Amino acid sequence: MSTDLNSPRSRIAIIGGGIIGLSIGWRLAQAGLSVDLFERDQVGQSASRAAAGMLAAAVEAEPGEQTLVPLCVASREMWPAFAQELEAASGLPVGLRQEGTMVVALTRDDVETLRSNYDYQRSLGLEMEWLTGAAAKEREPFLNPRTAAAVYSPRDGQVDNRLASAALRVALEKAGGRIHEGVTVTGLEMAGSRVTGVRLGDHVHAADQVVLAAGAWSRLLPGLPVPPPVRPVKGQMLSLQMDPAAPLLRHVVWGPKCYLVPRADGTLIVGATTEEKGFDNQMTAGGVLALLEATWRTLPGVEELPIKEMWHGFRPGCRDDAPILGWALGVEGLMLATGHHRNGILLTPITADAVAAMMLTGHVDERIRAFGPGRFAPARAA
Ligand SMILES: Cc1cc2nc3c(=O)[nH]c(=O)nc-3n(C[C@H](O)[C@H](O)[C@H](O)COP(=O)(O)OP(=O)(O)OC[C@H]3O[C@@H](n4cnc5c(N)ncnc54)[C@H](O)[C@@H]3O)c2cc1C
Repeated sequence: MSTDLNSPRSRIAIIGGGIIGLSIGWRLAQAGLSVDLFERDQVGQSASRAAAGMLAAAVEAEPGEQTLVPLCVASREMWPAFAQELEAASGLPVGLRQEGTMVVALTRDDVETLRSNYDYQRSLGLEMEWLTGAAAKEREPFLNPRTAAAVYSPRDGQVDNRLASAALRVALEKAGGRIHEGVTVTGLEMAGSRVTGVRLGDHVHAADQVVLAAGAWSRLLPGLPVPPPVRPVKGQMLSLQMDPAAPLLRHVVWGPKCYLVPRADGTLIVGATTEEKGFDNQMTAGGVLALLEATWRTLPGVEELPIKEMWHGFRPGCRDDAPILGWALGVEGLMLATGHHRNGILLTPITADAVAAMMLTGHVDERIRAFGPGRFAPARAA
């Protein structure tokens, strides 16, 4: 399917104003399409606000993710140019930092796990460096003095996801897109098997193509013949306030059972729990205790830092932990861009470009071909 800018196929409705919906909307509006984005709350306030903003393509690579890793690496490599373009278009900073990421081991068991992950990640061709405990503490002097070893990943950085969402909002509107907040999409308007708009309660908004980017809520949109297999994966997080003039950390650091993300303003983000509890929206004592205990073990100096904020969010977890990018099965004109799980910030540039290209020209970027909704279609009997 392709879009002729002079044809009526150029009216786009986007369901969901997280970083994924906003970035796709920006790309389509830049190309001259008429874009309306519908967000039931305020844009950028769900998972895209809750995230830590790590661009952890290498250190998060786990066995079984051989297909996903190249997508993550490609998107990580797109972030510097994407950030620069977004900052220029919006006039707002996005807080991209490229000091790299360290994974630290404190005990002998941690070292063994680290070594096995390092061997696997290196076998995928990822750029990583093994550090002795002393070398790790040279880079980050406030790490636990017992730090036994670490891995340094020079290309895994971070972006401030809250700033990036705010910048995308401005860039989308400057490109001519319209954002409708406080508006829930209640269903799809159909003519046969083709989508012709979105339902907003009693009202119908006509559209030629619709993008479903509703994050963890994507499968709940009424009327989908094949709902995408996306579920909420709850994460609790908190942040501490460091002295920005004398921060305890410069790199993103993964310790045993926590990660620590230092922002330029001295905020130290601490994450995160991973919980299969549906849309349970409580912070729990156990969750916070586990995060603080793991943080204190990794970086003992945090003891005196004030707690700044605590929050939780819902990762849009997909059945195979990879995103769903492509035309929906059973609904002509419906594009799926969801299921980004723990990598949605990292995968924003490639998602935006590849999804927009599919909608504008019909071209399927080779790098996303494996992530279409067809992979979940029931196998046909021989
Ligand atoms: C604790 C935590 C830590 C994370 N850390 C990282 C990280 O370090 N790096 C990384 O790359 N990723 C991280 N992620 C993952 C990342 O946040 C997500 O993958 C990404 O934000 C998904 O973006 P989205 O736009 O798909 O979803 P969301 O940001 O959740 O946006 C979806 C939007 O759709 C709206 N919506 C839903 N239904 C409707 C409807 N019917 N009508 C209108 N609007 C609707 C919702 O209100 C919501 O605003 C983390 C996630 C969590 C929870």
